[in-house]
Amino acid sequence: MTRVYNFSAGPSAIAESVLKQAQSELLDWNGCGASVMEISHRSKAFISLAEQSEQRLRSLLAIPENYRVLFLQGGATTQFAMIPMNLLADKQRAVYCCTGAWSQKAIKEAEIYCDVTVATDSQSDQYTGIAEQSNWTIDTQAAYLHYTDNETIHGVEFGYIPDSKGLPLVSDMSSNLLSRPFDVSRFGLIYAGAQKNIGCAGITVVIVRDDLIGNVISGTPSMLDYSKHAKQGSMLNTPPSWSWYILGLVLEWIESQGGVNRLAELNREKADKLYAAIDASDFYRNPVHPDYRSRMNIPFLLADSALEPVFLKYAQEAGLEGLKGHRSVGGLRASIYNAMPLSGVERLIDLMNEFERDHG
Ligand SMILES: *Cc1c(COP(=O)(O)O)cnc(C)c1O
Repeated sequence: MTRVYNFSAGPSAIAESVLKQAQSELLDWNGCGASVMEISHRSKAFISLAEQSEQRLRSLLAIPENYRVLFLQGGATTQFAMIPMNLLADKQRAVYCCTGAWSQKAIKEAEIYCDVTVATDSQSDQYTGIAEQSNWTIDTQAAYLHYTDNETIHGVEFGYIPDSKGLPLVSDMSSNLLSRPFDVSRFGLIYAGAQKNIGCAGITVVIVRDDLIGNVISGTPSMLDYSKHAKQGSMLNTPPSWSWYILGLVLEWIESQGGVNRLAELNREKADKLYAAIDASDFYRNPVHPDYRSRMNIPFLLADSALEPVFLKYAQEAGLEGLKGHRSVGGLRASIYNAMPLSGVERLIDLMNEFERDHG
């Protein structure tokens, strides 16, 4: 068996020790004589898994007491609708920052429920940066301000928490939650699908300030009501127990790595090395303004785009997978989440240098 260096954007790499533990517990989890997939979600063992994973997440991110932590289904995409359904209350407008493909999708879905005003839009710059906050327009009568902390496709990441002018701040952190510490108390709501940085597909983390929930727009189904999930400990119906279990193992792994602060240092180091290699050559290019370059998803272009399929094949033969850019933007992309070791990034850089020598 050979495992590759997996640079996929999502679903993406999971630490090998997590996979091995899941493998070793597959037939008999926690002395149950059955796998975690086969037991009741109302059992003592599973309730304890659920409580422990919430406690771990709370301590890793220092989540204040007045925030609820929810484990939901439907991916981040379902949050695009749940957020307006739950947070609009008596308002008719919401403010969104449009900084890439994922914010575009969030806006499109919100427009089903309300008028969206856009605080800033970097489409005319092909999403290669974010305008200074002093140039944003924020409608302070709106229900909330939404932004995408890390644009997985365009490789654009906020280096700061925006000033929402008093509006509840809502953030899509699907591709960078748990990659660095941040002040949760600045937010109204944070959400993330697990399959990028915190586990496998099927479960979505929502962290929401408790005064913001309980006032859904009429016609909202129970399954899309945060307050109902909060009251039932995210077990309004059968939860995705396997995905929840894997998420719990990933949180344990993060603790074993020294927590979010330590991973943030490593993530900085990995990204700096890769950007430095790209910038040092005329053969490779990253189009994003240096202040907004993502530490998680690093798109890069070849001077001669005809060489891209050749590069991908070259990388594949060397055991490096998942480097194709998103179909909407082309090019190449290295996703280097928490589970990508520094050695993987160094291997990629060596390979890029070898390829440039052969084809440059
Ligand atoms: C992947 C991704 C999504 C969509 O996630 P799903 O779980 O597939 O719905 C949304 N936002 C961002 C930033 C993403 O990276």
